[in-house]
Amino acid sequence: MLIINHSQVRELLPVRDCMEVVGKALSDLARGEGVQPLRSGFLRPDRQGVLAWMPGSLAAGRPFGIKVLSVVDNPGELGVESHQGGVMIFGATNGSPLALCEAGAITAVRTAAVSALATDRLARADSEILAILGAGTQASSHIEAMLAVRKISHIRVWSRDPDKVRVFAKEQAARHGMTVEPAPDVASAVAGADVVCTTTSAREPILFGEMLEPGMHINAVGASIPSWREIDPGVLPMVSLFTDRRESLRNEAGEYIQAVEDGLVEHGLVVPEIGEVFNGDHPGRTSETEITLFRSLGLAVEDIASARLVYQRALDRGVGTEADLTG
Ligand code: NDP
Repeated sequence: MLIINHSQVRELLPVRDCMEVVGKALSDLARGEGVQPLRSGFLRPDRQGVLAWMPGSLAAGRPFGIKVLSVVDNPGELGVESHQGGVMIFGATNGSPLALCEAGAITAVRTAAVSALATDRLARADSEILAILGAGTQASSHIEAMLAVRKISHIRVWSRDPDKVRVFAKEQAARHGMTVEPAPDVASAVAGADVVCTTTSAREPILFGEMLEPGMHINAVGASIPSWREIDPGVLPMVSLFTDRRESLRNEAGEYIQAVEDGLVEHGLVVPEIGEVFNGDHPGRTSETEITLFRSLGLAVEDIASARLVYQRALDRGVGTEADLTG
């Protein structure tokens, strides 16, 4: 089994290449190929974080595997990434372990890659103003991913700590060679934006219906457990909603679950999966004024497809550390 660490994953998994493999995995899944159970997890006894495990399989003949994650509540104070762990993949031929890849790097890239694919299909073609809510790992990877799919001319970033936002904006401006403006509040970050990415660990809503404008596209990335809400449930009746997996939406997306309970969203509504849009089974955006919202929950097949690519490249380039578990 090959062990591939954080910096090796980052090196071997550029966002554009990741988009290709996660797009294929989501298309296959929407056609009923592959296996994607719901994720499981538990809150640690000290309530400082969760342990989560996410199994899945790509289509027949391709790898299957599991991501195991420790997600801590206060990564900044601890000086660690919010998501730590591994993605372990197994070969379909003999069922043997192939690789263990550092999970934080895979999660950062694959989540943004899926949002980029959704943006490419759902955002207006002339989108140029990007608003990012949050200033952590996903905020950073989402800026890179959005730049890959739209000619973004202006970026605004908001997060709850103004000092952190200033530092983050400066770093991102230097990285991408463009102006990144810190915004004083969510409403000013979002005003006039064509694409909005919500990438915070907020547990109470930060984005409300009155902040939305015709023609916007939103990638909702945070709050992927039922008790958290990053978006106000009142947003949902205003938008054309898309998701990565309906089953995950119904079981894991707090604002969606509440919107159904409150009668804001029809019980049993068939929300299109983004893989169905890729497969041509749903048209995606149908007007310039429609507000589209892609609700990302994050799926193991995205991790496994990414780990498979990383593993193949690691073999080709002689990267990684071989561990013989059978010895
Ligand atoms: P980070 O810890 O790196 O960044 C989190 C950001 O959210 C920071 O800017 C943080 O601010 C801010 N934040 C934390 N708490 C709050 C709050 N109560 N209100 C407003 N802002 C807050 O995390 P990641 O970037 O790795 O993850 C961001 C979110 O995305 C999380 O909710 C995570 O669970 C989710 N996620 C979703 C995935 C998916 O597939 N859909 C995959 C991976 C992550 P500060 O620096 O001040 O703490």
